[in-house]
Amino acid sequence: MPTGTENRARMIEPHGGELVDRTVASDQADELRAQAATLPVVALTEKQIASGALSPLTGFMTRGDYDPVVETMHLDGGAAWALPVTLSVPAGLTADRIALRGFDGDLLAVMDVSEVFEADRRREAELVYRTTDEAHPGVAQIYAEGSTLAGGQVTVFQRPQPGFPALHMDPVETRAAIAGRGWTRVVGFQTRNPVHRAHEYIQKCALETVDGLLLHPLVGKTKGDDVPAEVRVECYRVLLKGYYPAGRTLLSAFPAAMRYAGPREAIWHAICRKNYGCSHFIVGRDHAGVGSYYGTYDAQLIFDEFAPGELGIQPMFFEHSFFCRACDSMGTAKTCPHDSEHHVHLSGTKVREMLGRGEMPPREFSRPEVAQVLIDAYRSQG
Ligand SMILES: [Zn+2]
Repeated sequence: MPTGTENRARMIEPHGGELVDRTVASDQADELRAQAATLPVVALTEKQIASGALSPLTGFMTRGDYDPVVETMHLDGGAAWALPVTLSVPAGLTADRIALRGFDGDLLAVMDVSEVFEADRRREAELVYRTTDEAHPGVAQIYAEGSTLAGGQVTVFQRPQPGFPALHMDPVETRAAIAGRGWTRVVGFQTRNPVHRAHEYIQKCALETVDGLLLHPLVGKTKGDDVPAEVRVECYRVLLKGYYPAGRTLLSAFPAAMRYAGPREAIWHAICRKNYGCSHFIVGRDHAGVGSYYGTYDAQLIFDEFAPGELGIQPMFFEHSFFCRACDSMGTAKTCPHDSEHHVHLSGTKVREMLGRGEMPPREFSRPEVAQVLIDAYRSQG
């Protein structure tokens, strides 16, 4: 097995070549904090994170990056990038330097304002979200933010409190953990839903071909009706404990908020996971979708819009999977020849109803340990 140092050399490079770290050393932090207290303050939303996950970005986008990202999914410098990373500010802001306040109320960073510009958020909605419908949660969010944006380099003097401290790992720490395990090829799995047998099957199919699996549940803001992050994480813990080899999996939190931008968000999720050290990324059906805004496999097809090697990370596409009683195994339409009457299928609504009543779904659908966590969560909600 290679040593950690040798292995780091073979690990996938961060997007753009270098992991960006915009956090200052502790001796400079106090000085910057004192200065920030004298500057105009702009509040951040839960969408905005800074930890190297967004390399090569060093701050919020100026028009020079915003426009090509919206129009062509590339930064000004040519690197692939799928979602605008923007800071909305009050119209008429003239300060050269502003302080950024986290949603817990603390000042966290300063931004050197390169540019204040007016963005066409409707155009952004149309191209990035593929809809201008205000009922789409991601679109509603950008409309609410307003059209005046400020771009510039951000310098962080205090990291925001992680929403999920026990599972918090920055990209640099995740890369070190991967190197320490001797993995070179690592597949990332993003999820905002509880994990059932279908997800387990896909993860394990992918893991068969690589060295390790990074289970990277999103623990930032999601829609109100999604299952809470702590419940989902507990589902992962019991599943890993019972059914995955400990030396092949790494569970940590992805502290981003969902945008529900479907295909564009799948690209963005992949690039972020590359920064965390993943060489491969699982894209299932309707990745990061919401309602019926995106076609079932749009989030897979969008990867074809990039030249080979441009993203660096290799997407792994999966279809809807199920347990087939005739095959007596998990499968998909690609591997099972039988009619759907043989397949164990339960709708999301049906599963929630069963769990709410304290009933176990079939074990071919959900591991009993996982179902129990969900049943307990529903009970405690009353
Ligand atoms: Zn079958």
